[in-house]
Amino acid sequence: LRPRLRYPYSIPPPPVARRLYTTGHNRPELKDQSLFIEKCYINGEWVNAKSGKTFEVHDPATGKLIGTCPEFDTSDVEKAIQAASEAFPSFRTTLARERARMLRRWYQLMMDNAEDLAKLITWENGKPLTDAKGEVNYAASFFEWFSEEAPRTYGDTIPASVPGNRVITIKQPVGVCGLLTPWNFPAAMITRKIGPALAAGCTVVAKSPSETPFTANALAELAHRAGIPKGVVNIVTASENTAAVGELITTHPEVRKVSFTGSTNVGRLLMKQASSTIKKVSWELGGNAPFIVFDDVSDLDAAVNGAIASKFRSSGQTCVCANRIYVQSGIYDEFAKRFTAKVKDFKLGAGFGEGVTHGPVIHERAAAKAHEHVQDATSKGAQVVVGGQRASALGPNFYEPTVLTGMNKDMLLASEETFGPVAGLFPFDSEKEVVELANKAEVGLAGYFFSSDVRRIFRVAEALEVGMVGVNTGLISDVASPFGGVKQSGFGREGSKYGIDEFMTVKSVTFGGM
Ligand code: NAD
Repeated sequence: LRPRLRYPYSIPPPPVARRLYTTGHNRPELKDQSLFIEKCYINGEWVNAKSGKTFEVHDPATGKLIGTCPEFDTSDVEKAIQAASEAFPSFRTTLARERARMLRRWYQLMMDNAEDLAKLITWENGKPLTDAKGEVNYAASFFEWFSEEAPRTYGDTIPASVPGNRVITIKQPVGVCGLLTPWNFPAAMITRKIGPALAAGCTVVAKSPSETPFTANALAELAHRAGIPKGVVNIVTASENTAAVGELITTHPEVRKVSFTGSTNVGRLLMKQASSTIKKVSWELGGNAPFIVFDDVSDLDAAVNGAIASKFRSSGQTCVCANRIYVQSGIYDEFAKRFTAKVKDFKLGAGFGEGVTHGPVIHERAAAKAHEHVQDATSKGAQVVVGGQRASALGPNFYEPTVLTGMNKDMLLASEETFGPVAGLFPFDSEKEVVELANKAEVGLAGYFFSSDVRRIFRVAEALEVGMVGVNTGLISDVASPFGGVKQSGFGREGSKYGIDEFMTVKSVTFGGM
Protein backbone atom coordinates (compact mmCIF):
# COMPACT_ATOMS: atom_id res chain seq x y z
CA LEU A 1 0.00 0.00 0.00
CA ARG A 2 2.89 2.39 0.61
CA PRO A 3 5.89 3.49 -1.38
CA ARG A 4 8.91 1.36 -0.60
CA LEU A 5 11.04 2.80 2.18
CA ARG A 6 14.78 2.71 1.83
CA TYR A 7 17.29 3.68 4.54
CA PRO A 8 19.70 5.19 4.62
CA TYR A 9 18.59 7.47 1.82
CA SER A 10 20.62 7.21 -1.31
CA ILE A 11 19.63 10.71 -2.39
CA PRO A 12 22.50 13.12 -1.73
CA PRO A 13 21.49 16.10 0.41
CA PRO A 14 20.93 19.11 -1.83
CA PRO A 15 22.95 22.26 -1.19
CA VAL A 16 20.20 23.93 0.80
CA ALA A 17 19.79 21.06 3.26
CA ARG A 18 20.47 22.20 6.77
CA ARG A 19 19.20 19.22 8.70
CA LEU A 20 20.38 15.85 9.85
CA TYR A 21 18.30 12.82 9.00
CA THR A 22 17.85 9.99 11.37
CA THR A 23 16.62 6.58 10.36
CA GLY A 24 14.03 4.22 11.75
CA HIS A 25 10.88 6.21 11.12
CA ASN A 26 8.06 5.52 8.73
CA ARG A 27 8.98 8.46 6.56
CA PRO A 28 7.88 9.25 3.06
CA GLU A 29 10.45 8.58 0.43
CA LEU A 30 10.68 11.72 -1.63
CA LYS A 31 12.56 12.57 -4.78
CA ASP A 32 14.08 15.42 -2.84
CA GLN A 33 14.45 14.12 0.68
CA SER A 34 15.51 17.53 1.95
CA LEU A 35 11.87 18.61 1.76
CA PHE A 36 11.13 16.46 4.81
CA ILE A 37 12.02 18.73 7.71
CA GLU A 38 11.47 18.26 11.43
CA LYS A 39 12.22 21.82 12.54
CA CYS A 40 10.64 25.25 12.50
CA TYR A 41 11.53 27.98 10.03
CA ILE A 42 12.35 31.27 11.77
CA ASN A 43 14.16 34.23 10.28
CA GLY A 44 15.42 32.14 7.37
CA GLU A 45 16.84 29.38 9.62
CA TRP A 46 15.65 25.92 10.61
CA VAL A 47 15.50 25.76 14.39
CA ASN A 48 14.41 23.57 17.30
CA ALA A 49 12.37 24.60 20.32
CA LYS A 50 14.49 26.27 23.00
CA SER A 51 13.30 23.58 25.43
CA GLY A 52 14.31 20.85 22.99
CA LYS A 53 10.81 19.41 23.26
CA THR A 54 9.14 17.82 20.26
CA PHE A 55 5.80 16.25 19.43
CA GLU A 56 5.07 13.24 17.28
CA VAL A 57 3.20 13.19 13.99
CA HIS A 58 1.50 9.97 12.94
CA ASP A 59 0.20 8.62 9.67
CA PRO A 60 -3.60 8.58 10.06
CA ALA A 61 -3.87 5.47 7.88
CA THR A 62 -1.44 3.26 9.80
CA GLY A 63 -0.86 5.11 13.05
CA LYS A 64 2.88 4.83 12.44
CA LEU A 65 5.22 7.59 13.43
CA ILE A 66 6.16 9.86 10.53
CA GLY A 67 8.44 12.17 12.46
CA THR A 68 8.60 14.83 15.14
CA CYS A 69 8.35 18.61 15.15
CA PRO A 70 9.44 21.22 17.69
CA GLU A 71 7.02 21.87 20.54
CA PHE A 72 7.32 25.65 20.47
CA ASP A 73 6.34 27.61 23.51
CA THR A 74 5.50 31.30 23.64
CA SER A 75 9.15 32.35 23.99
CA ASP A 76 9.99 30.56 20.72
CA VAL A 77 7.02 32.10 18.95
CA GLU A 78 7.96 35.52 20.31
CA LYS A 79 11.20 35.18 18.30
CA ALA A 80 9.23 34.39 15.17
CA ILE A 81 7.07 37.48 15.70
CA GLN A 82 10.19 39.60 16.24
CA ALA A 83 11.70 38.24 13.02
CA ALA A 84 8.54 39.08 11.08
CA SER A 85 8.42 42.48 12.70
CA GLU A 86 12.03 43.28 11.82
CA ALA A 87 11.58 42.08 8.25
CA PHE A 88 8.44 44.16 7.68
CA PRO A 89 9.88 47.69 7.14
CA SER A 90 12.04 46.62 4.23
CA PHE A 91 9.64 44.05 2.79
CA ARG A 92 6.76 46.52 2.68
CA THR A 93 8.85 48.83 0.51
CA THR A 94 9.93 46.08 -1.88
CA LEU A 95 8.55 46.84 -5.32
CA ALA A 96 5.28 45.03 -5.85
CA ARG A 97 6.69 43.61 -9.05
CA GLU A 98 9.59 42.15 -7.09
CA ARG A 99 7.22 40.52 -4.60
CA ALA A 100 5.29 39.21 -7.58
CA ARG A 101 8.45 37.61 -8.96
CA MET A 102 9.16 35.96 -5.59
CA LEU A 103 5.67 34.49 -5.44
CA ARG A 104 5.97 33.36 -9.02
CA ARG A 105 9.24 31.55 -8.23
CA TRP A 106 7.63 29.95 -5.20
CA TYR A 107 4.72 28.85 -7.37
CA GLN A 108 7.11 27.34 -9.90
CA LEU A 109 9.01 25.49 -7.19
CA MET A 110 5.74 24.04 -5.91
CA MET A 111 4.92 22.80 -9.39
CA ASP A 112 8.44 21.40 -9.84
CA ASN A 113 8.11 19.52 -6.54
CA ALA A 114 4.42 18.69 -6.87
CA GLU A 115 4.92 14.96 -6.57
CA ASP A 116 6.84 15.22 -3.31
CA LEU A 117 4.38 17.71 -1.86
CA ALA A 118 1.47 15.42 -2.75
CA LYS A 119 3.20 12.49 -1.06
CA LEU A 120 3.71 14.51 2.10
CA ILE A 121 0.04 15.52 2.09
CA THR A 122 -1.13 11.93 1.70
CA TRP A 123 1.32 10.74 4.31
CA GLU A 124 0.24 13.10 7.05
CA ASN A 125 -3.38 13.84 6.09
CA GLY A 126 -4.41 10.48 4.66
CA LYS A 127 -6.24 11.68 1.53
CA PRO A 128 -5.74 9.62 -1.65
CA LEU A 129 -2.70 10.61 -3.69
CA THR A 130 -4.79 11.84 -6.63
CA ASP A 131 -6.65 14.20 -4.29
CA ALA A 132 -3.35 15.33 -2.81
CA LYS A 133 -2.04 16.12 -6.29
CA GLY A 134 -5.17 18.17 -6.91
CA GLU A 135 -4.56 20.01 -3.67
CA VAL A 136 -0.99 20.89 -4.69
CA ASN A 137 -2.25 22.47 -7.91
CA TYR A 138 -4.96 24.35 -6.03
CA ALA A 139 -2.50 25.46 -3.34
CA ALA A 140 0.10 26.64 -5.86
CA SER A 141 -2.55 28.57 -7.78
CA PHE A 142 -2.75 31.06 -4.87
CA PHE A 143 0.89 32.01 -5.35
CA GLU A 144 0.40 32.36 -9.08
CA TRP A 145 -2.80 34.35 -8.68
CA PHE A 146 -1.47 36.71 -6.04
CA SER A 147 1.77 37.22 -7.94
CA GLU A 148 -0.55 38.72 -10.55
CA GLU A 149 -2.57 40.73 -8.01
CA ALA A 150 0.48 42.21 -6.21
CA PRO A 151 1.15 44.98 -8.73
CA ARG A 152 -2.54 45.91 -9.06
CA THR A 153 -3.40 47.22 -5.60
CA TYR A 154 -4.65 50.50 -7.00
CA GLY A 155 -6.05 53.37 -4.95
CA ASP A 156 -8.70 55.91 -5.98
CA THR A 157 -8.89 59.55 -6.89
CA ILE A 158 -12.05 60.84 -5.21
CA PRO A 159 -13.99 64.04 -5.97
CA ALA A 160 -13.87 65.87 -2.62
CA SER A 161 -16.95 67.47 -1.08
CA VAL A 162 -14.92 70.34 0.39
CA PRO A 163 -14.05 73.15 -2.04
CA GLY A 164 -10.35 73.25 -2.89
CA ASN A 165 -9.66 69.78 -1.52
CA ARG A 166 -8.49 66.72 -3.40
CA VAL A 167 -8.68 63.19 -2.00
CA ILE A 168 -6.77 60.09 -3.00
CA THR A 169 -6.48 56.68 -1.39
CA ILE A 170 -3.52 54.37 -1.15
CA LYS A 171 -3.50 50.74 -0.07
CA GLN A 172 -0.81 49.66 2.38
CA PRO A 173 0.17 46.33 3.93
CA VAL A 174 -1.35 45.87 7.36
CA GLY A 175 1.87 44.60 9.00
CA VAL A 176 2.84 41.35 10.68
CA CYS A 177 0.16 38.70 10.17
CA GLY A 178 -0.54 35.67 12.35
CA LEU A 179 -1.91 32.77 10.30
CA LEU A 180 -3.58 29.72 11.86
CA THR A 181 -4.69 26.88 9.64
CA PRO A 182 -6.22 23.39 9.86
CA TRP A 183 -5.04 19.98 8.70
CA ASN A 184 -7.69 19.18 6.10
CA PHE A 185 -5.78 20.99 3.33
CA PRO A 186 -2.22 21.00 4.64
CA ALA A 187 -0.92 23.05 1.69
CA ALA A 188 -3.86 25.03 0.34
CA MET A 189 -5.06 26.54 3.61
CA ILE A 190 -1.61 28.03 4.14
CA THR A 191 -0.92 29.27 0.62
CA ARG A 192 -4.38 30.85 0.46
CA LYS A 193 -3.25 33.11 3.31
CA ILE A 194 0.49 33.54 2.67
CA GLY A 195 -0.02 34.32 -1.04
CA PRO A 196 -2.11 37.47 -0.54
CA ALA A 197 -0.19 38.47 2.61
CA LEU A 198 3.13 38.57 0.77
CA ALA A 199 1.59 40.11 -2.32
CA ALA A 200 0.33 42.93 -0.08
CA GLY A 201 3.79 43.42 1.46
CA CYS A 202 3.06 41.82 4.86
CA THR A 203 5.30 39.44 6.75
CA VAL A 204 3.86 36.35 8.43
CA VAL A 205 4.07 33.96 11.34
CA ALA A 206 2.12 30.85 10.40
CA LYS A 207 1.29 28.20 12.95
CA SER A 208 0.90 25.03 10.95
CA PRO A 209 -1.48 22.31 12.14
CA SER A 210 0.07 19.81 14.53
CA GLU A 211 -1.43 16.91 12.54
CA THR A 212 0.14 18.03 9.24
CA PRO A 213 3.24 20.17 9.83
CA PHE A 214 5.53 18.58 7.25
CA THR A 215 3.77 19.92 4.18
CA ALA A 216 4.03 23.42 5.65
CA ASN A 217 7.72 22.89 6.34
CA ALA A 218 8.31 21.76 2.76
CA LEU A 219 6.57 24.93 1.58
CA ALA A 220 8.85 27.00 3.81
CA GLU A 221 11.89 25.28 2.34
CA LEU A 222 10.64 26.18 -1.14
CA ALA A 223 10.10 29.78 0.03
CA HIS A 224 13.75 29.79 1.05
CA ARG A 225 14.81 28.51 -2.35
CA ALA A 226 12.56 31.07 -4.03
CA GLY A 227 14.58 33.83 -2.37
CA ILE A 228 11.88 35.11 -0.02
CA PRO A 229 13.89 37.36 2.35
CA LYS A 230 14.59 36.12 5.85
CA GLY A 231 11.94 36.89 8.43
CA VAL A 232 9.19 37.37 5.84
CA VAL A 233 7.83 33.84 6.23
CA ASN A 234 8.08 32.11 9.61
CA ILE A 235 6.53 28.73 10.33
CA VAL A 236 6.02 27.58 13.91
CA THR A 237 4.74 24.28 15.27
CA ALA A 238 3.20 23.21 18.55
CA SER A 239 0.83 20.56 19.75
CA GLU A 240 0.27 20.75 23.51
CA ASN A 241 1.14 24.46 23.49
CA THR A 242 -1.31 25.31 20.70
CA ALA A 243 -3.68 27.31 22.89
CA ALA A 244 -0.86 29.33 24.47
CA VAL A 245 0.75 29.97 21.09
CA GLY A 246 -2.64 30.96 19.66
CA GLU A 247 -3.16 33.35 22.53
CA LEU A 248 0.23 34.95 22.00
CA ILE A 249 -0.36 35.42 18.28
CA THR A 250 -3.84 36.85 18.77
CA THR A 251 -2.83 39.24 21.56
CA HIS A 252 0.68 40.31 20.58
CA PRO A 253 0.80 44.05 19.83
CA GLU A 254 3.23 43.55 16.92
CA VAL A 255 0.78 41.26 15.13
CA ARG A 256 -1.63 43.50 13.26
CA LYS A 257 -3.76 40.91 11.52
CA VAL A 258 -4.93 37.40 12.35
CA SER A 259 -6.35 35.06 9.76
CA PHE A 260 -7.70 31.76 11.04
CA THR A 261 -9.27 28.77 9.32
CA GLY A 262 -10.80 26.17 11.55
CA SER A 263 -13.82 25.43 13.69
CA THR A 264 -16.34 28.03 14.78
CA ASN A 265 -15.65 27.33 18.43
CA VAL A 266 -11.94 28.04 18.18
CA GLY A 267 -12.71 31.06 15.97
CA ARG A 268 -14.96 32.44 18.69
CA LEU A 269 -12.15 32.14 21.26
CA LEU A 270 -9.57 33.72 18.96
CA MET A 271 -11.92 36.60 18.13
CA LYS A 272 -12.26 37.36 21.81
CA GLN A 273 -8.48 37.26 22.24
CA ALA A 274 -7.84 39.43 19.19
CA SER A 275 -10.21 42.08 20.52
CA SER A 276 -7.70 43.03 23.24
CA THR A 277 -5.49 44.77 20.67
CA ILE A 278 -8.24 45.44 18.07
CA LYS A 279 -6.60 43.46 15.32
CA LYS A 280 -7.77 43.23 11.76
CA VAL A 281 -9.12 39.68 11.52
CA SER A 282 -10.61 37.19 9.12
CA TRP A 283 -12.26 33.97 10.12
CA GLU A 284 -12.89 31.03 7.79
CA LEU A 285 -14.91 28.82 10.10
CA GLY A 286 -17.08 25.73 10.05
CA GLY A 287 -19.84 24.98 7.60
CA ASN A 288 -22.92 22.79 7.34
CA ALA A 289 -23.69 23.05 3.66
CA PRO A 290 -27.16 22.35 2.33
CA PHE A 291 -27.20 20.55 -1.03
CA ILE A 292 -30.63 20.79 -2.67
CA VAL A 293 -31.87 18.77 -5.64
CA PHE A 294 -35.11 20.10 -7.17
CA ASP A 295 -37.31 17.83 -9.23
CA ASP A 296 -36.99 20.12 -12.26
CA VAL A 297 -33.35 19.09 -12.60
CA SER A 298 -32.58 18.24 -16.23
CA ASP A 299 -29.81 15.74 -15.53
CA LEU A 300 -30.25 13.69 -12.36
CA ASP A 301 -26.90 11.94 -12.84
CA ALA A 302 -25.13 15.30 -12.85
CA ALA A 303 -26.84 16.10 -9.53
CA VAL A 304 -25.81 12.70 -8.13
CA ASN A 305 -22.21 13.25 -9.24
CA GLY A 306 -22.22 16.77 -7.84
CA ALA A 307 -23.49 15.55 -4.48
CA ILE A 308 -20.92 12.72 -4.40
CA ALA A 309 -18.05 15.10 -5.16
CA SER A 310 -19.24 17.68 -2.67
CA LYS A 311 -20.02 15.25 0.14
CA PHE A 312 -17.21 12.74 -0.04
CA ARG A 313 -14.13 14.70 -1.17
CA SER A 314 -11.41 14.18 1.49
CA SER A 315 -13.78 11.71 3.18
CA GLY A 316 -16.20 14.50 4.01
CA GLN A 317 -13.56 16.62 5.70
CA THR A 318 -13.89 19.83 3.75
CA CYS A 319 -15.54 22.88 5.26
CA VAL A 320 -17.63 23.35 2.10
CA CYS A 321 -18.76 19.76 1.84
CA ALA A 322 -22.46 18.95 1.60
CA ASN A 323 -23.71 18.06 5.05
CA ARG A 324 -27.47 18.01 4.46
CA ILE A 325 -28.63 16.65 1.11
CA TYR A 326 -32.24 17.74 0.45
CA VAL A 327 -33.97 15.90 -2.39
CA GLN A 328 -37.47 16.79 -3.61
CA SER A 329 -39.95 14.01 -2.85
CA GLY A 330 -40.79 13.07 -6.46
CA ILE A 331 -37.19 12.15 -7.30
CA TYR A 332 -36.03 11.12 -3.82
CA ASP A 333 -36.06 7.34 -4.31
CA GLU A 334 -34.38 7.45 -7.70
CA PHE A 335 -31.74 9.88 -6.46
CA ALA A 336 -31.08 7.71 -3.39
CA LYS A 337 -30.69 4.62 -5.58
CA ARG A 338 -28.19 6.20 -7.97
CA PHE A 339 -26.32 7.99 -5.18
CA THR A 340 -25.97 4.79 -3.15
CA ALA A 341 -24.72 2.86 -6.17
CA LYS A 342 -21.88 5.35 -6.54
CA VAL A 343 -20.95 5.11 -2.86
CA LYS A 344 -20.86 1.32 -3.08
CA ASP A 345 -18.18 1.71 -5.76
CA PHE A 346 -15.81 3.60 -3.45
CA LYS A 347 -12.60 1.91 -2.42
CA LEU A 348 -11.66 2.75 1.14
CA GLY A 349 -8.01 2.42 2.17
CA ALA A 350 -4.71 4.12 2.82
CA GLY A 351 -4.17 7.07 0.49
CA PHE A 352 -1.25 5.47 -1.36
CA GLY A 353 -3.20 2.28 -2.11
CA GLU A 354 -3.89 1.28 -5.69
CA GLY A 355 -7.35 2.39 -6.76
CA VAL A 356 -8.18 3.87 -3.34
CA THR A 357 -10.80 6.58 -3.73
CA HIS A 358 -11.31 7.46 -0.07
CA GLY A 359 -8.85 7.52 2.81
CA PRO A 360 -9.07 7.59 6.60
CA VAL A 361 -10.37 10.48 8.63
CA ILE A 362 -7.76 12.48 10.48
CA HIS A 363 -8.06 10.86 13.89
CA GLU A 364 -10.10 8.48 15.97
CA ARG A 365 -12.24 11.34 17.32
CA ALA A 366 -13.39 12.18 13.82
CA ALA A 367 -14.44 8.57 13.16
CA ALA A 368 -16.28 8.55 16.50
CA LYS A 369 -18.13 11.75 15.59
CA ALA A 370 -19.24 10.30 12.25
CA HIS A 371 -20.54 7.25 14.07
CA GLU A 372 -22.31 9.37 16.66
CA HIS A 373 -24.19 11.17 13.87
CA VAL A 374 -25.16 7.86 12.27
CA GLN A 375 -26.37 6.38 15.56
CA ASP A 376 -28.31 9.51 16.42
CA ALA A 377 -30.03 9.45 13.01
CA THR A 378 -30.92 5.76 13.16
CA SER A 379 -32.24 6.12 16.69
CA LYS A 380 -34.61 8.76 15.32
CA GLY A 381 -35.84 6.70 12.39
CA ALA A 382 -33.23 7.00 9.60
CA GLN A 383 -32.15 3.93 7.62
CA VAL A 384 -28.57 3.00 6.78
CA VAL A 385 -28.48 2.11 3.08
CA VAL A 386 -24.75 1.54 2.90
CA GLY A 387 -21.93 1.79 5.44
CA GLY A 388 -22.80 2.91 8.94
CA GLN A 389 -19.88 1.31 10.78
CA ARG A 390 -16.30 1.93 11.77
CA ALA A 391 -14.08 0.14 9.22
CA SER A 392 -11.99 -1.23 12.06
CA ALA A 393 -10.28 -3.86 9.94
CA LEU A 394 -8.44 -1.03 8.17
CA GLY A 395 -7.61 0.88 11.34
CA PRO A 396 -9.19 3.06 14.03
CA ASN A 397 -9.37 6.12 11.76
CA PHE A 398 -11.44 4.55 9.00
CA TYR A 399 -15.17 5.04 8.70
CA GLU A 400 -17.29 3.38 6.04
CA PRO A 401 -18.70 5.81 3.47
CA THR A 402 -22.31 5.94 4.59
CA VAL A 403 -25.68 6.83 3.10
CA LEU A 404 -28.69 7.45 5.34
CA THR A 405 -32.23 7.88 4.09
CA GLY A 406 -35.36 9.05 5.87
CA MET A 407 -33.55 11.95 7.52
CA ASN A 408 -35.38 14.73 9.34
CA LYS A 409 -34.62 18.07 10.95
CA ASP A 410 -34.44 16.71 14.50
CA MET A 411 -31.34 14.66 13.81
CA LEU A 412 -27.88 15.90 14.83
CA LEU A 413 -26.69 15.79 11.26
CA ALA A 414 -29.26 18.47 10.37
CA SER A 415 -27.77 21.01 12.71
CA GLU A 416 -24.11 19.99 13.21
CA GLU A 417 -21.22 19.68 10.80
CA THR A 418 -20.32 15.95 10.59
CA PHE A 419 -16.90 16.43 8.96
CA GLY A 420 -16.84 12.78 7.96
CA PRO A 421 -18.02 10.43 5.18
CA VAL A 422 -21.70 10.33 6.12
CA ALA A 423 -24.39 11.49 3.68
CA GLY A 424 -27.89 12.07 5.03
CA LEU A 425 -30.68 12.38 2.42
CA PHE A 426 -33.57 14.58 3.56
CA PRO A 427 -36.85 14.59 1.58
CA PHE A 428 -38.67 17.91 1.00
CA ASP A 429 -41.74 19.10 -0.87
CA SER A 430 -41.55 22.80 -1.70
CA GLU A 431 -38.95 25.43 -2.51
CA LYS A 432 -40.11 27.61 0.38
CA GLU A 433 -39.79 24.72 2.83
CA VAL A 434 -36.30 23.72 1.71
CA VAL A 435 -34.92 27.25 1.68
CA GLU A 436 -36.16 27.68 5.25
CA LEU A 437 -34.55 24.39 6.27
CA ALA A 438 -31.31 25.31 4.52
CA ASN A 439 -31.17 28.66 6.28
CA LYS A 440 -31.93 27.26 9.72
CA ALA A 441 -28.23 26.64 10.37
CA GLU A 442 -26.23 29.03 12.56
CA VAL A 443 -23.40 28.81 10.04
CA GLY A 444 -23.42 29.79 6.37
CA LEU A 445 -20.36 28.85 4.37
CA ALA A 446 -21.38 27.04 1.16
CA GLY A 447 -24.72 25.95 -0.29
CA TYR A 448 -25.52 24.03 -3.47
CA PHE A 449 -28.56 23.31 -5.57
CA PHE A 450 -29.47 21.65 -8.82
CA SER A 451 -32.32 23.06 -10.89
CA SER A 452 -32.96 23.91 -14.53
CA ASP A 453 -35.49 26.68 -13.90
CA VAL A 454 -33.66 29.95 -14.48
CA ARG A 455 -36.02 32.00 -12.30
CA ARG A 456 -35.68 29.53 -9.45
CA ILE A 457 -31.91 29.57 -9.90
CA PHE A 458 -31.76 33.30 -9.23
CA ARG A 459 -34.35 33.14 -6.43
CA VAL A 460 -32.65 30.37 -4.51
CA ALA A 461 -29.08 31.61 -5.09
CA GLU A 462 -30.13 34.96 -3.64
CA ALA A 463 -32.13 33.44 -0.76
CA LEU A 464 -29.51 31.03 0.62
CA GLU A 465 -27.75 32.49 3.65
CA VAL A 466 -24.24 31.41 2.71
CA GLY A 467 -21.07 33.01 1.38
CA MET A 468 -20.73 30.70 -1.63
CA VAL A 469 -23.35 29.05 -3.83
CA GLY A 470 -22.82 26.22 -6.29
CA VAL A 471 -25.56 26.05 -8.93
CA ASN A 472 -25.59 22.77 -10.83
CA THR A 473 -22.14 21.92 -9.53
CA GLY A 474 -20.79 20.32 -6.37
CA LEU A 475 -17.32 21.85 -6.60
CA ILE A 476 -16.86 25.56 -6.05
CA SER A 477 -13.25 25.99 -4.96
CA ASP A 478 -11.42 28.12 -7.49
CA VAL A 479 -8.66 30.65 -6.87
CA ALA A 480 -10.61 33.14 -8.98
CA SER A 481 -13.72 32.92 -6.81
CA PRO A 482 -14.00 34.63 -3.40
CA PHE A 483 -13.99 32.05 -0.62
CA GLY A 484 -15.65 32.76 2.73
CA GLY A 485 -18.80 32.61 4.79
CA VAL A 486 -21.55 34.50 6.54
CA LYS A 487 -23.19 34.05 9.95
CA GLN A 488 -21.06 31.89 12.26
CA SER A 489 -18.94 30.67 9.36
CA GLY A 490 -17.01 33.90 9.78
CA PHE A 491 -16.08 36.81 7.57
CA GLY A 492 -13.35 37.88 5.21
CA ARG A 493 -12.69 36.49 1.76
CA GLU A 494 -9.76 34.45 0.44
CA GLY A 495 -8.60 34.06 -3.15
CA SER A 496 -10.02 36.22 -5.96
CA LYS A 497 -9.50 39.95 -6.34
CA TYR A 498 -10.82 40.44 -2.78
CA GLY A 499 -8.31 38.22 -0.99
CA ILE A 500 -5.49 40.76 -0.97
CA ASP A 501 -7.68 43.45 0.66
CA GLU A 502 -7.76 41.38 3.84
CA PHE A 503 -4.06 42.10 4.22
CA MET A 504 -4.15 45.80 3.34
CA THR A 505 -5.52 48.98 4.83
CA VAL A 506 -6.98 51.83 2.82
CA LYS A 507 -5.43 55.17 3.69
CA SER A 508 -7.02 58.38 2.48
CA VAL A 509 -4.85 61.39 1.76
CA THR A 510 -6.58 64.78 1.58
CA PHE A 511 -4.86 67.71 -0.11
CA GLY A 512 -6.14 71.13 0.95
CA GLY A 513 -5.92 74.54 -0.74
CA MET A 514 -5.77 73.18 -4.26
P1 NAD B 1 -9.88 23.43 14.95
O1 NAD B 1 -10.56 24.73 15.05
O2 NAD B 1 -9.90 22.54 16.12
O3 NAD B 1 -8.35 23.63 14.55
C1 NAD B 1 -7.93 24.40 13.46
C2 NAD B 1 -6.51 24.89 13.69
O4 NAD B 1 -6.47 25.75 14.79
C3 NAD B 1 -5.52 23.75 14.03
O5 NAD B 1 -4.27 24.02 13.48
C4 NAD B 1 -5.41 23.81 15.53
O6 NAD B 1 -4.18 23.33 15.97
C5 NAD B 1 -5.56 25.30 15.76
N1 NAD B 1 -6.09 25.63 17.07
C6 NAD B 1 -6.94 24.92 17.84
N2 NAD B 1 -7.17 25.58 19.00
C7 NAD B 1 -6.45 26.71 18.94
C8 NAD B 1 -6.25 27.79 19.84
N3 NAD B 1 -6.85 27.86 21.03
N4 NAD B 1 -5.43 28.80 19.46
C9 NAD B 1 -4.82 28.74 18.26
N5 NAD B 1 -4.96 27.75 17.38
C10 NAD B 1 -5.77 26.74 17.73
O7 NAD B 1 -10.50 22.74 13.68
P2 NAD B 1 -10.24 21.30 13.12
O8 NAD B 1 -11.22 20.37 13.74
O9 NAD B 1 -8.81 20.95 13.17
O10 NAD B 1 -10.64 21.57 11.59
C11 NAD B 1 -11.92 21.36 11.11
C12 NAD B 1 -12.77 22.62 11.21
O11 NAD B 1 -12.21 23.64 10.40
C13 NAD B 1 -14.16 22.39 10.66
O12 NAD B 1 -15.09 23.02 11.47
C14 NAD B 1 -14.11 23.03 9.29
O13 NAD B 1 -15.36 23.42 8.79
C15 NAD B 1 -13.21 24.17 9.52
N6 NAD B 1 -12.61 24.60 8.26
C16 NAD B 1 -13.06 25.76 7.72
C17 NAD B 1 -12.56 26.18 6.49
C18 NAD B 1 -13.01 27.46 5.86
O14 NAD B 1 -12.37 27.92 4.92
N7 NAD B 1 -14.08 28.08 6.32
C19 NAD B 1 -11.61 25.40 5.83
C20 NAD B 1 -11.18 24.20 6.41
C21 NAD B 1 -11.70 23.81 7.65
